[in-house]
Amino acid sequence: MNSPNDSASTVICSAKGCRAAAVWVLAWNNPKLHTPDRRKTWLACEEHREHLSQFLGVRGFLKDVVTLEEWEARSASDG
Ligand SMILES: [Zn+2]
Repeated sequence: MNSPNDSASTVICSAKGCRAAAVWVLAWNNPKLHTPDRRKTWLACEEHREHLSQFLGVRGFLKDVVTLEEWEARSASDG
């Protein structure tokens, strides 16, 4: 049964200590740990998107940054 409160699906930013609602999805892959088609995701609010994407970017892990809306639309239409 679904909860009557559909805001229960709100997702929170992955940044340490941040409780803001996430609006961005950062898709990343660590080639030492993951197969190339694997995607790990971090969620980010508007404020932490840049910080988190830089963290992944300098390590060469960052693959994609999309809005949460687009990410969900993609996964929904994905085979
Ligand atoms: Zn945040």
